Formats: sequence, C-alpha cells, structure tokens
Amino acid sequence: QEITAFPGWIARDGVTLEQLDPAMLDDLDTVVRVRYSSINYKDALALHGRPGVIRRHPLIAGIDLTGEVLASRHPRWQAGDLVTLNGAGLGEDLHGGLAGLAAVNGDDLVRVPSELGPLRAAAIGTAGFTAALSLLALERHGLAPETGPILVTGAGGGVGSIAVALLAAARYEVIAATGRPSELSSQLTALGAAHVLDRAELTSSGKPLGKQRWAGVVDAVGGPVLAGALAGLQHSGVATTCGLAGGAEYPGTVLPFILRGVSLLGIDSVRTPPLRREAAWQRLAQLLDPALLDSVTRVVPLSDAKDAAASLLAGAGTGRIVVDVASA
Ligand code: NAP
Repeated sequence: QEITAFPGWIARDGVTLEQLDPAMLDDLDTVVRVRYSSINYKDALALHGRPGVIRRHPLIAGIDLTGEVLASRHPRWQAGDLVTLNGAGLGEDLHGGLAGLAAVNGDDLVRVPSELGPLRAAAIGTAGFTAALSLLALERHGLAPETGPILVTGAGGGVGSIAVALLAAARYEVIAATGRPSELSSQLTALGAAHVLDRAELTSSGKPLGKQRWAGVVDAVGGPVLAGALAGLQHSGVATTCGLAGGAEYPGTVLPFILRGVSLLGIDSVRTPPLRREAAWQRLAQLLDPALLDSVTRVVPLSDAKDAAASLLAGAGTGRIVVDVASA
C-alpha cells in the first residue's frame, strides 16, 4: 500500500526522530523499505550533532540500511529483493538508513547473503564490511595465515570485534588489542583471538621501533595506538588504517617504513566500488559464524538509536548495535 509517512532520525538544527514525508527522499533509482540499520561510530557522531559526517541539512541520518526493495528502475533489482547498503554517501550527503524508507542508487546495493539474512547483515553493517575490506587489502598485499599473526586494535568495538572473528575464521592467529582487557578478554577469546593485549602496551614506550611481533595490523583507532602497532610490525609487514576513535593524528616516524619496509594501507568503505563490495560480502557470508556474530550483537528499537549511540562516543561500545527500524 502507499506509504504516506515514515519515522526517521533527521538532522536539522538538532537531530530528532520525526514522522517524515516520502516526497522528501532523493530521486534515486531504488526505493527500499528499511528493516534494520545499525550504529557505527559515524552514526554516533551524527546523532549527537558532532561535525564531520552530515554534509547537507536537513538530512536523514544513518550510514547503513538493510531492507526490502519496494520499487526499482535499476536493471539488477526488483520488488521483494532483500538488500543491504553500507556508506556510498548514505547519512552523509544522501538521506540515510535510520528511517523506515530510503531511496538509493541500485549500483551500490548488495544482495543480503542467504547464509546471513537481514538482521545479521545489519549486524555486520559498515563496521563488519570495513573489517572485511581490511582483510582483503592485507591479502592483496601478500599476507596469508602462514605469514604471521595479525594485530587488531579497538578490538572491543564494531570494526575490531568483527575483524577478530573474521580473521580467526580465515585461520589467522589474531592478537586483539583493547583498552578493556579485564572486561573483554573472554569475549575476544570466544571470537577467536589467540591472545589479548592491553592497548597500553602499544603506547607505553613511545618508540618508533619495537620488537617485531606481528605480520599485519587492522587498525580502527589511529593516534598513538597506530604508531605503536606499526612499531611492532615485522619486516615487510602490512597494516590497514580505517579509523580515528583514538585520534586523527599519526604521532609516529618514517622509521618503520624505511628500516623495515612496512606498508600502511588506507581503507575507505564509503566509496568502495560495486565489485569489491560483492567480494567483501561474499567473504563475510563464507567465514562469519552466525552464532558468534549474534553473541556480540544488541538490537534496539528506532527510538533508542540516539541513546544507544552515546556509548560509542564514550569509547565504551562493545560489538555491534542493530537498530530495528520497524519497532518504535
Ligand atoms: P566503535 O564500535 O566505537 O569502536 C571503536 C573502538 O576503539 C572502541 O570500542 C575502543 O576499543 C577503541 N577506542 C575508543 N576510544 C579510544 C581511545 N580514545 N583510544 C584508543 N582506543 C579507543 O566504533 P567502530 O564503528 O568500530 O569504528 C571504529 C573507527 O573506525 C571509527 O573511527 C570509525 O569512524 C572508523 N571507521 C572507518 C571506516 C572507513 O571506511 N574508513 C569504516 C568503519 C569505521 P577497545 O576498548 O577495545 O580498545
């Protein structure tokens, strides 16, 4: 039936949950009835009015969506298809996924893998998609389980916890670095971490080169943690950087690059081209144990999205938060 209004979190002067008019949506080729969104670090920033995410006002927040196609002019999609979308401008310069209805570009949509279903696809969200992009990037640069262990920073958070589970499932030896080792050790071990490291160990010496301990790094933290992670990379090791939960600066030196030949690869999930989106989602569907994913997923109703996001800004988020858009 025709939709005359839908609920959504919208950024105007502040960010509020309102009933919205479908006529406000962008004229894009595919209309999706959103079932689930999720809370990523960027969503937390946007919902709490922090700068740097929302680039147009008014704008519906939410960088992820999972739902059912209602209508599409795109050749790949038809009504009834279950789809998921991460980034691609959602919730930044296009109306986003924290709402009951969305109009999106069909090129960027990915079919929800049948192994996962819509709730788990939403639980993966941008955070898990980014973890998969990080794994693909490390492997493109020659890493394999035999090369040596991989350090994951911010392991308790969304990107970190999915990265731990994904890398372990791909047979890597995972070292999970967290600021909350006593609280999160057993959860990280259950996800597949072989060792849990207190992140203070990464930052305490402040030296640009340390003992060579890992062949790869998946970093979602930045700042001194990234510098410490690079200091512990083995010769010719590879690190990915995707986040700044611990700071946007890089307080390191060129020494790991020029004396140990290490590489630092940037990950931008937002502008990932369609074929790589498919590859990342295929890997997630093949590797992730649904029960493990469920063990780090919390579901909240749409009305609780803003409150649930506060923990991420406080550096106290764990795992993933799914927003059940249909439940008020
Ligand atoms: P999250 O769930 O809040 O996780 C961030 C984790 O970082 C926290 O759980 C915490 O882990 C650690 N952390 C938080 N504050 C810290 C601090 N001050 N110093 C050191 N560590 C700190 O967020 P997320 O959604 O996983 O995103 C993580 C980062 O990646 C964000 O900056 C986000 O914007 C970025 N990101 C980027 C892309 C991209 O495409 N480039 C995609 C997704 C996410 P522990 O307590 O376990 O240490």
